[in-house]
Amino acid sequence: MIRDNLASVRERINIACSGCRRNPAEIAIVAVTKGRSAAEIQEAIESGISYIGENRVQEAMAKFYELQAKNCGLRWHMVGHLQTNKTKDAVEIFDLIHSVDSLRLAEEINKQASRISKVQNILIEVNVSGEASKFGVRPEELISIVEKSAGFKNINVQGLMTIAPAVDKAEEARPYFRALRELRDKIYERRTTNDEPRILSMGMTDDFEIAIEEGSSMIRLGRAIFDA
Ligand SMILES: *Cc1c(COP(=O)(O)O)cnc(C)c1O
Repeated sequence: MIRDNLASVRERINIACSGCRRNPAEIAIVAVTKGRSAAEIQEAIESGISYIGENRVQEAMAKFYELQAKNCGLRWHMVGHLQTNKTKDAVEIFDLIHSVDSLRLAEEINKQASRISKVQNILIEVNVSGEASKFGVRPEELISIVEKSAGFKNINVQGLMTIAPAVDKAEEARPYFRALRELRDKIYERRTTNDEPRILSMGMTDDFEIAIEEGSSMIRLGRAIFDA
């Protein structure tokens, strides 16, 4: 099932890319594995997945130690809200933290990463829709947070992440994805930092084709991969 699901996801990526003249190789698939067993994740890995996205540090650690030993080349991504008291463990296992939503968290990640002489790759999560229920920095604060974060030696700001609001039709998510791309372009043009914030982590099971049309480079898929 997981293998077939991934085949149809790849087909849908190809179709979305051909509609907007993008190269499917530019789109990384992060399999979001919260609540999934190690056996399910192993099947996804055997079907070509190498980016594993988790929402909780504790759950991720257990799976990390089980799966990392059996598989080479896996990359673990934190996609859920990160509490500052979990950053020590997070920097141990994650290659990319998508959900940096405050300067304070960036500062703490920098501190913990420096303890283990690591440069931690991060994305800044932006609350583009402004919904009170969502994590993420406000668009108006973004530039300042990116520039201050770039001053930290042990983090590398690689791009932006957003979660679009739940909408009836995927098309309705387009303005939020477009807004994130425009913010990325604005930061990129300013070039006040040495970091290259190229990654756009946007698009989930219900809206990834629209996200790809708006420039996504990393889609985060749970149900499309693991559900029947
Ligand atoms: C669960 C989750 C996803 C995947 O959601 P699906 O709709 O199942 O594809 C992506 N990103 C984040 C941050 C999530 O929490």
